[in-house]
Amino acid sequence: MKEGIHPKYGKSVVRCACGETFETGATKEALNVDICSKCHPFYTGRQKLVDTGGRVDKFRRRMERQK
Ligand SMILES: [Zn+2]
Repeated sequence: MKEGIHPKYGKSVVRCACGETFETGATKEALNVDICSKCHPFYTGRQKLVDTGGRVDKFRRRMERQK
C-alpha cells in the first residue's frame, strides 16, 4: 500500500436508531445507521413501516379527495 493515499482505516463505533451499538472497521470514527442486523425486519421477522415525512398520509388524503 502506498503511504498517504488511503483513508485512515480503524475501529469505529456504529450506533443504530434502535439503540444497538457495535464496533466495526471503517474510515470514520463514529457511524449512525437507521437499521442494523438486530432490528432489520429480515432478521427480526417483524414488519416495520418506515414512513418518511408523512408520504403515506399525503397519498391517502389524495385518494380521499378523488372520490
Ligand atoms: Zn438496530
